[in-house]
Amino acid sequence: MVITQRVGVLALQGDVREHAALLAELGAEVVLVRRPEELATVGGLVIPGGESTVIDKLSRTFGLQGPIRTAIADGMPVLGTCAGLIMLADRIEDAIEGQQTFGGLDVLVRRNAFGRQTESFEAELDVPELGDAPVHAAFIRGPVVESVGRSAATLAALPDGRVVAVEQGNLLGIGFHPEISGETRFHRRFLDRVAARSGPGASAGAAV
Ligand code: GLN
Repeated sequence: MVITQRVGVLALQGDVREHAALLAELGAEVVLVRRPEELATVGGLVIPGGESTVIDKLSRTFGLQGPIRTAIADGMPVLGTCAGLIMLADRIEDAIEGQQTFGGLDVLVRRNAFGRQTESFEAELDVPELGDAPVHAAFIRGPVVESVGRSAATLAALPDGRVVAVEQGNLLGIGFHPEISGETRFHRRFLDRVAARSGPGASAGAAV
């Protein structure tokens, strides 16, 4: 029997639609999360790319910061891409005044590490955890993981050694955009985590 996973995409700002479309393609039921009541119905959350300063502010305005922090502490699987990685980082550099994150990943992330939008680039990355085929990664004003703390593990790095994807328990943070390059393996990994956590027989989307 196939159990449909009900997962959320944080829909405050950013490339929400691309993530929602990819997750739906992979067979998940997708909820656009803007309110705590919506968060409570999902078994995992994707935090899209966009602008972390805006996502931070809106999450506080909408009363989502506390519930998302609690869900992360409770072990809910979360996949953050780009601004989403910044939102998952415990420590950030080049933040704006007063900028906050949800946290959970024991890493220091530097915002806008590759410069401006016009300096966006694509690269092939080796990600052994995802198999032999390289990951085609699009970097758009992305962050870099400057240091990986003891509790987190590196998933992917550029050829020069700069870390661009990390994992810690049920949290997956990547500095690029698989949702726009046809790369599905990170989202599959996320959905596997959601399935593993729900367990056989658990109702999809159980929040706790
Ligand atoms: N520069 C953005 C930020 O600081 C992230 C860019 C992106 O998500 N593509 O949030």
